[in-house]
Amino acid sequence: MSLTTRIVLSMVLAMAGGILLKFIDDSGYLGDIGQLILLDFFTEGLLDVIGQIFIASLRLVIVPLVFFSLVCGVVSISSTSRIGTISLKTLSLYLLTTAIAISIALTFALLFQPGIGIDLALPTAFESTDAPSLKEVLVNIFPTNPIAAMAEGNMLQIIVFSLLFGIALKSLGSAGDSLKNSFETINNVILSLVKMLIELAPYGIFALLFSLFAVQGFGMIGDLAKYFFLLVFVLIFHAFITYGSLLSVLARINPIKFFMKVRSLAVFAFSTSSSSATMPITLDTVKNKLGVRSSIGSFTVPLGATINMDGTAIMQGVATVFISQAYNIDLNMIDYLMVILTATLASIGTAGVPGVGLIMLAMVLEQVGLPVEGIALIIGVDRLLDMTRTAVNVCGDAMVSCVVAISEDEFDLETFQSEN
Ligand code: ASP
Repeated sequence: MSLTTRIVLSMVLAMAGGILLKFIDDSGYLGDIGQLILLDFFTEGLLDVIGQIFIASLRLVIVPLVFFSLVCGVVSISSTSRIGTISLKTLSLYLLTTAIAISIALTFALLFQPGIGIDLALPTAFESTDAPSLKEVLVNIFPTNPIAAMAEGNMLQIIVFSLLFGIALKSLGSAGDSLKNSFETINNVILSLVKMLIELAPYGIFALLFSLFAVQGFGMIGDLAKYFFLLVFVLIFHAFITYGSLLSVLARINPIKFFMKVRSLAVFAFSTSSSSATMPITLDTVKNKLGVRSSIGSFTVPLGATINMDGTAIMQGVATVFISQAYNIDLNMIDYLMVILTATLASIGTAGVPGVGLIMLAMVLEQVGLPVEGIALIIGVDRLLDMTRTAVNVCGDAMVSCVVAISEDEFDLETFQSEN
């Protein structure tokens, strides 16, 4: 069986097994011994431990992977001015796709009105959360201490430092060759570590998904079904229609082939709920399956995992409309434009870890004067939605990587066309 088949199979088995166990437990057929063995020991004990170790191992490789692969990537780019063009192109595409995502989300939410009829009274006191200002976000991109940035895993700072380091190393010319070779070697070591982790993926994914579904099941959707299914629909719509069209128009490659190639990546993102933890796999998929050359992928992927969150922006759009309707607060055109702007910025500031998109939603709600307490309404169904939107987030990173690589002539069509 191919690895992709094993990954997809482990997802299906884990979800089915978890839901079945939850159902048996809810019906009271499990008994005390069954609960002890199947739930306490197997699910919440053993599988949870395996799942957590799997995520930790993925996170372990992120900082060295980004640093070494980005430095090697920069060194291999022909001129420094090209780095500027590539950065600009990537940033613009990430922002553009996010703005499209949120606009589609608002349109569908206004059309289907998920919050009408909930009629909540306004809470008396609004609790405000501290969202960073744009100024803070910009200044914080530049590291004062690269070691601290790496220790904290501050991705944007690591990206800036790696770019500068790569440019400086390149400027040394042949005097930097020995260091370049050492960096290549270390980079290869980390990539082979990633390969080992990918081999273990079916087990990690099974552990993560089984324990999640066995504990949570689907029962919590209840009253929020309209919000839940609308959001899932918009996420799927954006992934297939927007990304599919952009791939056909801008990259002129077959979108179906693209989607077939990213399916195990999407399962990864779905099970980990974290674009950041999925980053090693995204990089591997983008390079070895889609054909994006290392020089582009090592820049676009870490950047995308940090700032490009189309799925998160979609959730924020639908949630804003849902909350405004639930509290019967009308938003006008200017408010919706504000939502597009703030949700785009909020998704840049959202860390690629589980659940942060919901915290950043506070920033969007406050911007248009909606009660932040509305978040409490949707928190119960957010776990599953978080998984789905993370899959969209990483597919967006892969899509933009392909578009940039093709426009820069750094795309290997043979790899893309191959069956792997
Ligand atoms: N979990 C998402 C991600 O890592 C972020 C979010 O929307 O909460 O991409």
